[in-house]
Amino acid sequence: MIVTKQISLKTQGNCDIVDITPQVEQKLAETEINSGTAILFIAGSTAGISTIEYESGLVADFQRMWERNVPQGIPYDHDRRWGDGNGHAHVRASLLGASLVVPFTGRRLSLGTWQQIIVVDFDNRPRSRQVVMQIMGE
Ligand code: ZN
Repeated sequence: MIVTKQISLKTQGNCDIVDITPQVEQKLAETEINSGTAILFIAGSTAGISTIEYESGLVADFQRMWERNVPQGIPYDHDRRWGDGNGHAHVRASLLGASLVVPFTGRRLSLGTWQQIIVVDFDNRPRSRQVVMQIMGE
């Protein structure tokens, strides 16, 4: 069986990191599927999905890593062409990736104890986002 769900969220942009684990667990609980795979995909080219230990120190470390490696305030061809000032956001999003696969068994996600699912919004303004969750299994 395949079930497709949508998770809606609002972000502050500017490397806002949102823990969506409760919403993912909720959507899985709404199905009758016991074991399988959940694919999470975020639509848009300035946000990505990953996992992290969601505590404030590591969240700040992760945000600083992006600023060191793909900084704002340097020239981007994308900004020259479009003037929207978010060239860094697009590059960061491509590097992080737009999807995540999470297996589940016994109706429970196979996450580590200190591992949460996050959306990282790199855009330079607040955004409304849609995460598509496709659940495959039996
Ligand atoms: Zn852009």
